[in-house]
Amino acid sequence: MAKIGFIGLGNMGGPMAANLIKAGHALKVFDLSEAAVSKAVAEGATKASTVADAAKDVEFVVTVLPAGKHVLSVYDGPDGVIANARAGTLLIDSSTIEVDAARKAADLAKAKGLGSVDAPISGGVAGATAGTLTFMVGGDDGDFDRAKPVLEGMGSNIIHAGTSGAGQAAKICNNMVLGVSMIAVSEAFMLAKRLGLDAQKLFDISSKASGQCWSLTSYCPVPGPVPTSPANRDYQPGFAVDMMLKDLKLAQQAAASAGATTPMGALAESLYALYSNSGNGGMDFSAIVKMLDGDK
Ligand code: NAD
Repeated sequence: MAKIGFIGLGNMGGPMAANLIKAGHALKVFDLSEAAVSKAVAEGATKASTVADAAKDVEFVVTVLPAGKHVLSVYDGPDGVIANARAGTLLIDSSTIEVDAARKAADLAKAKGLGSVDAPISGGVAGATAGTLTFMVGGDDGDFDRAKPVLEGMGSNIIHAGTSGAGQAAKICNNMVLGVSMIAVSEAFMLAKRLGLDAQKLFDISSKASGQCWSLTSYCPVPGPVPTSPANRDYQPGFAVDMMLKDLKLAQQAAASAGATTPMGALAESLYALYSNSGNGGMDFSAIVKMLDGDK
């Protein structure tokens, strides 16, 4: 059992904290939302009154925050995690943020004698609730080994991607594939529709042929073939358009700073921005198929 400070109890962080409590860890929790804190306290956590309070006298601090600016502001400054954690505390950031921000966070932690890993997640709210998340971890071997037992309380696949920032790099590369493949699968279904090919027939064939991919077989963007996919519940998320857009933007920023050529990723970002700007940011990302169908 470890003493863990936990900051960020939103859609992902809330159930992740609940699973750490169930695994027997002692949690001190902080969030700007009083309601989120009260829920975690009802599940067995102790309330921290500030970020600094959550970071004091613990062995680990887990953060699950919206974006890089939130992580750096919670880490840095006299009231932040780094100034208030005792030497040797290990910081685990499971937010999806810029690779550069993750590296900056790691440098700030190291300068104060703290360990750190970037450990972004895949698996959505369902995976966070079931404790079956995939963690992509960036950090040195010793920090990875220390983080692993804590991460095992929240996930079933814990993969060491490399040094600081490598977890975030893996996350944005993976989600760029996901965004591009969802658009490609959606285009195929809309082409099939206009060619008079039944959606179920395309699914049955492509899921056994070379077009097979997760966007088709696990998250099919048209209703019917995969009963659990958001297409069968009016495209309620799931994983929202604005979340996908955020990750595609991170991929483009990273590509620009690393000099990588990612034209399909850039196009996917533009298409998701267009769909979000027409008021669909809260829809599941597979709803992009409706835009390709002329919003039918
Ligand atoms: P969310 O908006 O539901 O939760 C964020 C929480 O952080 C909120 O409760 C908010 O009050 C809190 N917060 C913000 N600033 C804070 C601060 N300064 N101090 C304390 N608390 C603060 O977001 P989410 O869906 O839980 O996502 C969290 C992260 O996980 C994001 O980086 C997201 O990209 C990533 N992610 C989300 C999903 C998903 O399906 N939702 C999947 C994979 C990864």
